[in-house]
Amino acid sequence: MRVRRYSDTYIVKPFDPWKSKLCTCPEKYSFNPYTGCSHKCLYCYSSSYIKEFFHPRIKRNVLGFFRRDLLKIPEGSLIELSSSTDPYQGLEEKFQVSRKSLETLLEMKRKKFRVLIVTKSNLVRRDIDLLREINVAVTITITTLDPKLSSKLEPGAPKPEKRVAALRELKENSIPIAVRLDPVIPFLTDNPENLKEVVEAASSVGATQIISSTYKVKRDNFERMIKVFPELKDKWREAYFVEGVKIKNYHYLSIRLRRKLMVTVKAFADKYKVRFSSCREGFLGLQTAQSCNGSALTARNVN
Ligand code: SF4
Repeated sequence: MRVRRYSDTYIVKPFDPWKSKLCTCPEKYSFNPYTGCSHKCLYCYSSSYIKEFFHPRIKRNVLGFFRRDLLKIPEGSLIELSSSTDPYQGLEEKFQVSRKSLETLLEMKRKKFRVLIVTKSNLVRRDIDLLREINVAVTITITTLDPKLSSKLEPGAPKPEKRVAALRELKENSIPIAVRLDPVIPFLTDNPENLKEVVEAASSVGATQIISSTYKVKRDNFERMIKVFPELKDKWREAYFVEGVKIKNYHYLSIRLRRKLMVTVKAFADKYKVRFSSCREGFLGLQTAQSCNGSALTARNVN
């Protein structure tokens, strides 16, 4: 299937990770129901290219444009909600753009779209009635089970235990689930106990896949990180700006450290019988899952 090239006026767009050689995502379309996000994650990457990112807002005629674009894209396309916002952030409770988008997808069932949901919110539970009818996989991000650490890192997002409960409920409703242990942050969430706890929790609720990735530094996310964790500033500087490498506009950890962290997560995934993939790390050899982003989990019959 070839993804068409669209102009910026389209709201359902081919996913384009700035031609990153490290991105191994299958071809997919991206739909962001909102602009910006209220989860306010310190490490967020989207805030570097979207203005006033932490003041989320709705888009003009978003559902009208969504429907228009769906009519133009090929049957069976994979649509991700969302690559640059959280579809189940605070605004969704009131405006329900994500829910209405799912209703639209259901109305167009004949086009056999596949849907990949990426969220940090247990609000996704609300839409289980619709998700049961769609070829969907839901990935929920959990960076740590520690509620105090999570509230510093992701101050606007629901607590990790609520995310785990949401995963459990999705699974009980036969909806394929994966957990994003992403990002793994050196000196903060990279200790084996933390990584093990997250993988074990994912396994305990029946997640099929763990998707993991290390934290990448961008100027704005680094400023937020060192403001909240000033004691780690020097260590991070050394790890990213002295020992690390710059790839496109991101500062990465050294390949040695990144591989070590991903090998550790994979070892826990193997132990708890969950498939493993990494995101934009370049370690395809470690992958035991069918797709890096969980999209292969959308292949099921829902009729
Ligand atoms: S949930 Fe995602 S888009 Fe929203 S602030 Fe966090 S990292 Fe950024």
